Amino acid sequence: GRTTCGSHILENYIAPYDATAVARLRTAGLVFVGKTNMDEFAMGSSNENSYFGPVRNPRDTTRVPGGSSGGSAAAVAANETVLALGSDTGGSVRQPAGYCGVVGLKPTYGRISRYGLVAYASSLDQIGPISKDVTDAAHLLQTIAGHDPRDSTSINAAAPDYTAALNGDLSGLKVGLASEHFPSELNAEIAAAIRRAARALEGAGAELIDVSLPIAGHAEYCIGTYYLIAMAEASANLSRYDGVKFGHRSKDAKDLLEMYLQTRSEGFGAEVKRRIMLGTYALSTGYYDAYYLKAQKVRTLIRRDFETAFAECDVLLSPVAPTTAFKLGEQLDDPLQMYLNDIYTVSVNLAGIPGISVPFATATDGLPIGAQLLAPLLGEEVLLRAAYALEQAAA
Ligand code: GLN
Repeated sequence: GRTTCGSHILENYIAPYDATAVARLRTAGLVFVGKTNMDEFAMGSSNENSYFGPVRNPRDTTRVPGGSSGGSAAAVAANETVLALGSDTGGSVRQPAGYCGVVGLKPTYGRISRYGLVAYASSLDQIGPISKDVTDAAHLLQTIAGHDPRDSTSINAAAPDYTAALNGDLSGLKVGLASEHFPSELNAEIAAAIRRAARALEGAGAELIDVSLPIAGHAEYCIGTYYLIAMAEASANLSRYDGVKFGHRSKDAKDLLEMYLQTRSEGFGAEVKRRIMLGTYALSTGYYDAYYLKAQKVRTLIRRDFETAFAECDVLLSPVAPTTAFKLGEQLDDPLQMYLNDIYTVSVNLAGIPGISVPFATATDGLPIGAQLLAPLLGEEVLLRAAYALEQAAA
């Protein structure tokens, strides 16, 4: 099948080899039923940025499935498949899982090889399982996790037995709730659902602890830092689509420069162009220190914030998104509003830590509400243990 990344520029692109994650699943005997739609080059939170048109949310087809891996989450939610992969650069596995009422796991950066994954922002990208339940996510992670000499950022540590921890017993576990994750303007139904999730974890034996994420818990720091770094890296990564090496090439160019310009003008959609321009600007001489370098410094502070919180608790519990799935078209004219969907997810990629979205409640409009659990670097076992107990409590 074609690997389009939801883009016109790769409309007819056939990948010449399997990604490591895919190869490992093939070796394990899994059968592939198809590739799913997504926001173009994984840039989006609603799946409306695909060249091939939007995906709809199977729970309510007037709503978005989330993004960017919305096709994967929708396919699992609609019973078209039991397992899917997504890529999570700033929430693209967890947020669509939350919007569609399925499980989405973003492992620690480097836990799963990125070899063969089309790059968006290389310091943030991580492949993750989307599944109907936590047990399936653990099995899928088990199959694809582990060192890969073809990806220099892949972690050289064996994957533990992830399913061994799925026993529903949380005695001794400390669950942190960050006050910054529950601002007064948070949707009341979502806030109430996450508070119920906290009590459910307590019922399974966990202890609830109040913690603070003074920087990592604040949208103005996280969204700005994430979008600066993601766009800067994307502008570099996407320079390879030049009409020569891959995919689409403009037909009627007079010379090389015109061929580059026309190919990219024709091949990329509006959001991808916006990000390439903003990313190039942030990296250019005179602006690099003020934007990109500053963002890297804030990224360090965000990472330290999580370290401080995890000195007091084993996992953190938060919403996965500030709202349930919104209507198609509702946020298309307002990129900033669209970026604000990611307030609970992007800091996790900036810190490299693992996170999971577990369907926990249903809002009065019938849409699923996901709860997000986070753990320290390589804390997938404790993360899955807590997620499994939460799933049992929700059932
Ligand atoms: N919504 C975020 C973005 O558009 C995250 C997407 C992702 O994780 N691929 O960048």
